[in-house]
Amino acid sequence: MGLRTWLRDKPAFLEWVYQITYATFKLIQPLISRIGYPRVNRWLAPLEHAGKDALFGCKMCGQCILHSTGMVCPMTCPKNLRNGACGGVRSNGNCEVIPEMRCIWVVAYERAKELRVFGPEIIDIKPPVNHQLQGTSAWINMLTGEDKANPRGWAELPPNPVIEKKL
Ligand code: SF4
Repeated sequence: MGLRTWLRDKPAFLEWVYQITYATFKLIQPLISRIGYPRVNRWLAPLEHAGKDALFGCKMCGQCILHSTGMVCPMTCPKNLRNGACGGVRSNGNCEVIPEMRCIWVVAYERAKELRVFGPEIIDIKPPVNHQLQGTSAWINMLTGEDKANPRGWAELPPNPVIEKKL
């Protein structure tokens, strides 16, 4: 078994690595801010891609939600679903589009059960991906808040009267 496969099957360990990395980025944020987010993004993005592509098949969406999806990259779903599974999962748990591939959402649900902190987030509804962030560092976007911001040109949704009524 290769190191990559071994690591992929250790979601709890990967969650811990994520937490350490997150805390480190938060700690050095003042330094990154002083150097300039775009400047750091230029050298960090290729490094991030190399590491995450090797491990997760990362497509550099710029809005990483790996920790909310069982440490499985949702962009490796042939339909690029941020909320899955779709209705086409085969009875053996394989993908509708690539029959020989296990549905990444089936794997995500299985692995999310092993995540102590972020596992429950698997059932949260994820917003649509902002393609304007494609190719940029998700870590930098996390620090600047761009990963959670409404994309340019998108309107703020008005409050939902049905939900408001329930609250
Ligand atoms: S969610 Fe986005 S940034 Fe995270 S591994 Fe997948 S493509 Fe890469």
